[in-house]
Amino acid sequence: MSPAIPVRCLARPLAGGLVVPWVSLIHNGHAVFGSLDADRARRAFLKRLCQICGQPLQERFFVIVRPADQRQGYSPEPGLDPECQPYAAAHCPMLIPREFAISEVLSTRNPWPDPPNSHPRSSGSAARRATGSCHEEGV
Ligand SMILES: [Zn+2]
Repeated sequence: MSPAIPVRCLARPLAGGLVVPWVSLIHNGHAVFGSLDADRARRAFLKRLCQICGQPLQERFFVIVRPADQRQGYSPEPGLDPECQPYAAAHCPMLIPREFAISEVLSTRNPWPDPPNSHPRSSGSAARRATGSCHEEGV
């Protein structure tokens, strides 16, 4: 039986019963889990889209952080919304066997400039904290 699919992902295609992430590379009509479509990943960063469902992220979202990412101080993957994050953590074949942490981010940053004659907004990430990790052995 396939895992419950997040409502935000109901329009996404499936592969092997799993949601094909919006940023996944599609090669010859097949999803390549673990490989990013560079253009979609870039668009997800620039437009603040969830890497799983492709819908806009809200103020609260999550990022996948590997030990190498922690050392470098950034994650090379776009964020995930609170509905897609637990689904990905539980079922993504690329996340389950590897060591990773998922950090929650609260951002008040507005990535788009305010229109003229509008009130200034605060900027910058409000908070970051590690919320979990997975240490399963390889498949
Ligand atoms: Zn999502």
